[in-house]
Amino acid sequence: MIRRLGGERAHLVVRSRPDLPRTVTGPVTAIVVGGGIAGVTAALLLAERGVTVTLLEREAQLGGRLAAWPRTLPDGTRHMVEHGFHGFFRQYYNWRNVLRRIDPRLSFLRPAGRYPIISQEWPEESFAGLPRTPPANLLALLARSPSMRLRELRGLDGTAALPLLSYDREETYRRFDGVSAKDFLDALGMPPRARAMLFDVFAHSFFNHQEDMSAAEMLMQFHFYFLRNPEGLDFDAPTEDYETAVWSPLARQFEALGGRIRTGVAVERIEPGWTVSVRGGESLTADHVVLAADPGAARAIAAASPGLARHAPVLAGQLASVATTAPYAVSRLWTDRDCRPERAVFSSVSREATLDSITLYHRIERAAGQWARRAGGSVIELHAYAAPTGLTAAELTKRMWGELGGLWPETVDMTIRHVEERVGDDAPAFDVGSDATRPGVVTDADGLYLAGDWVRMPFPSALMERAASSAILAVNAILDRHGAGPHQVWSVAPRGLLARSRRP
Ligand SMILES: Cc1cc2nc3c(=O)[nH]c(=O)nc-3n(C[C@H](O)[C@H](O)[C@H](O)COP(=O)(O)OP(=O)(O)OC[C@H]3O[C@@H](n4cnc5c(N)ncnc54)[C@H](O)[C@@H]3O)c2cc1C
Repeated sequence: MIRRLGGERAHLVVRSRPDLPRTVTGPVTAIVVGGGIAGVTAALLLAERGVTVTLLEREAQLGGRLAAWPRTLPDGTRHMVEHGFHGFFRQYYNWRNVLRRIDPRLSFLRPAGRYPIISQEWPEESFAGLPRTPPANLLALLARSPSMRLRELRGLDGTAALPLLSYDREETYRRFDGVSAKDFLDALGMPPRARAMLFDVFAHSFFNHQEDMSAAEMLMQFHFYFLRNPEGLDFDAPTEDYETAVWSPLARQFEALGGRIRTGVAVERIEPGWTVSVRGGESLTADHVVLAADPGAARAIAAASPGLARHAPVLAGQLASVATTAPYAVSRLWTDRDCRPERAVFSSVSREATLDSITLYHRIERAAGQWARRAGGSVIELHAYAAPTGLTAAELTKRMWGELGGLWPETVDMTIRHVEERVGDDAPAFDVGSDATRPGVVTDADGLYLAGDWVRMPFPSALMERAASSAILAVNAILDRHGAGPHQVWSVAPRGLLARSRRP
């Protein structure tokens, strides 16, 4: 069923049930482990329905991979530094619905503008401004892209390309989870330029190396972001830092509903019943636990919880196989002058060894813009999504800055006034064959639910939207246990245009 949702065309996966009570009857308690998108979504939506929730977050602030924290520059100015620039795509129906709770019009989001892919070898291309509806978007992209001349299109293996348009949760994973994304793309027979500019860039943005990544997972992401996305590839970004725009308002709303947030509290063990033990020796109990930590942390908590392995051997085995992928690097640089005016807010980079994207923060975020105007400089953020292992943040900054100079010559003579740089290793791996052991939201541990961007999902979703959607499914499972109606869940069309129709 297709419905319009805030001006967007969305597919309703879970309907609300006005015939059921909105809130749980009687006292129900839950502990949510992890305060990123998944954890805060779960905590807030449970609290809305009358569940008494305690949210435990290891770090000093909420947000996880979307967090922001304060830093003082050598010039004495105070800035919020984010975990990295994020694109809020318009088909993120569930995450946007969570955000609408703090700002019904999502007025803190602004279109990020054209979205070019740049390289040293070829002129830039853009995904922006394409028709919204598939397959018109695909046809328009192929027709207008200089990477795809008619002559070259003839070399394309149409049969090999069919799975792109025929996504189906069961069939696609059955056929392609055992194939690497690289082998799948190789078989398409794309001309090298189209492969590099249109497909490799897209695949790299999923934080995994093509050689290791499941082709099924990549096909799902193509389906979700492009081939079945009725909102187009344009995206929005907050005009304020993420703490101001997202986390403080969500926290206030949760606390107003009686929810309790404890930051700086690291969970060590979870034992059936349910008892959650935190570093320092304290134990808390609740009827339900939502484990919304990042994949590596979820695996470590399960490994330290012997009772969980006895109680739920399937889940324990699945969590033991959850993996993190290549490191990613985020470097934010405050410089002494601006880039050329025609540079986009966000550019994807093709064919550089390290650099995958460039964000001009001062052209989208209010505070960065104020600093840049005052200082006459720019605030540039560089990302490597699947970086080489074993390098320090400083080494990765140096490489990315060097590569930037080859792409945008005006940066070569800039003076860098300050750098904030990090390497992260908490992004989920979607390795070849991993779907078979990937745990879903509902587990064989009665009362324990999983949420996060690494959890197995029944409909297409990725990254921030996967984190929020899995959390809503976890909340709905708890509400169902207590006779309350579910929250609505939305998706893009779950199947590809050419997917074979299923027998009912
Ligand atoms: C550089 C970068 C750029 C990105 N760009 C985009 C983008 O453009 N679009 C997009 O959709 N997504 C993007 N993402 C991905 C997005 O950030 C994630 O998909 C999303 O934030 C995951 O949310 P989560 O709640 O599942 O996990 P997390 O954000 O990892 O949250 C898990 C939380 O659990 C906490 N935790 C861990 N262990 C414990 C413990 N033992 N006890 C208590 N708490 C614990 C962690 O501290 C963390 O706060 C990007 C990510 C990065 C790193």
